[in-house]
Amino acid sequence: MAISSKMKIFAEKSSWIRKMFEQGGKMKAEFGAENVFDFSLGNPDAPPPAQFDQVLAKIAADNGPGTHSYMPNGGHLWVREAVAGQMAKEQGVKVVASDMLLSCGAAGGINVIMKSLLNPGDEVIFLAPYFVEYDFYVDNHGGKSRVVQTDENFNPDMAAIREAISEKTKAIIINSPNNPTGQIYSKEILAELGLLLTEMGEKFGSTIYLISDEPYRKITYDGIEVPSIFAAYSNSIIVSSYSKDLSLPGERIGYVAVHPGISEKAELVSAMTLANRILGFVNAPALMQRVIAELQGISVDNERYARRREAFCQILTEAGFDFVPPKGAFYIFPKSPIEDDVAFCAILQEEKILAVPGRGFGAPGYIRLAFCVPDETIAGSAAAFKRAYQKALK
Ligand code: PLP
Repeated sequence: MAISSKMKIFAEKSSWIRKMFEQGGKMKAEFGAENVFDFSLGNPDAPPPAQFDQVLAKIAADNGPGTHSYMPNGGHLWVREAVAGQMAKEQGVKVVASDMLLSCGAAGGINVIMKSLLNPGDEVIFLAPYFVEYDFYVDNHGGKSRVVQTDENFNPDMAAIREAISEKTKAIIINSPNNPTGQIYSKEILAELGLLLTEMGEKFGSTIYLISDEPYRKITYDGIEVPSIFAAYSNSIIVSSYSKDLSLPGERIGYVAVHPGISEKAELVSAMTLANRILGFVNAPALMQRVIAELQGISVDNERYARRREAFCQILTEAGFDFVPPKGAFYIFPKSPIEDDVAFCAILQEEKILAVPGRGFGAPGYIRLAFCVPDETIAGSAAAFKRAYQKALK
């Protein structure tokens, strides 16, 4: 066997979304794309904001000396200054360029953090349901995943987190607005989590880092704002990207920022800056750095996702589904009407609906539906959802 046994296991673990993607391709070829209701992928379909095209055209035309050169490993200083300025507004805490670095998306950023923090066997806690690639990122750097379930509303279960923390715990990753549930953690919840991590860190004589993965921060509904992580806990690190809020997932541009008061800051930032180079990315893409410097505070039209969320919630309610309405991101995570989420996804497929089983996110018994798809796909799926739900109950 050419590939490593570990990659074989990973391929199996990450297979749910891929399986649905492949299945979707086959079904679309057989029945026509317009007759398949594909809610399997979190690939934003909103176009980037108009300002993106203008800035990109301007920057592409300017190719003075050094435009395409290597740069400091953390990214161009003036770009970091622009991002830090925006972060300071969002976090209500002063963030400066030297507290952050530009990364190849949030995924690259999380790998940079893990590379910098983990010793072999260190544990990282995630709250299920969770973005399954966290498992791989932690393993990439010799760590061990520790999965803790959330409560019935997909909020952190503090007692369960307390139980899971040990002297081996190096970090906890949270993701709010959440993929796959759309939950946003309140200010009170974050404050409680901050207190818990402080208490447990003192108990074990260690620093437990709170890593907030927040690429969906700007995609929220009903006027909800995502509370500040930096206000809740000083040993916190924010990782984010422009994949979702500027609809640029293919351009691989994001950032990592540490709390200005984080312990051993200089050493940590310097380790992350080196990791940003030696993991093989060798800086975040230069062209996109220059583009996003001019797009701070701008994001895609949330109205489009808000409209779809409204329509989708209504369809699912009428079909009989039980779900927590998402507060942000573009996913809904309803309960499967039968215990076996994989079997229910097969029933949905008979009705030409593609969904991802909850077990792909560490939460069997649910399904994930991504609503970053055209309005017609959502509207057209109503009768099919009703039929699938009824079929499952028979
Ligand atoms: N974190 C979460 C929760 C995600 O949903 C995704 C992508 O879907 C990522 C990280 C990776 O994002 P990026 O494209 O910025 O690497």
